[in-house]
Amino acid sequence: MKIHRISNWCPLFWFGAGAITLGQHILFKNSYYEKLNRSDLVVIIVHEKVHSRQQNQIGWIWFFKYIFSSKFRLSQEIEAYAEQLLFYIQNTEKSLASLISRMAKQLSGRTYMYMVTKERAEQLLIERLKEKGL
Ligand SMILES: [Zn+2]
Repeated sequence: MKIHRISNWCPLFWFGAGAITLGQHILFKNSYYEKLNRSDLVVIIVHEKVHSRQQNQIGWIWFFKYIFSSKFRLSQEIEAYAEQLLFYIQNTEKSLASLISRMAKQLSGRTYMYMVTKERAEQLLIERLKEKGL
């Protein structure tokens, strides 16, 4: 993955995302990147790699589906967040319950255009972890 730092004013970041993946490239909003420490960066790369893989599987149509279908966007984000959770479980001592709660809050917010309720997002993350055998 190649990392790029992009101007805060770029329209890609209007909805509040701090990082966006296009194929093998991760575009970071400059002000967001500056606040990240090393371990934040690692976790974001774990997340964005999932989107890179998803995009690679279905091609350019991924972006249209992601923007216009909240159901699709949710499925893609649950996959990426679940991967992030697995990474945290393997590499940190952070409380799983508080991680899930924090992620569900993000998933239900403006950045993802209010695609899901916090409760439903929590449920989906837990289901996904169970599927992975946790
Ligand atoms: Zn994502």
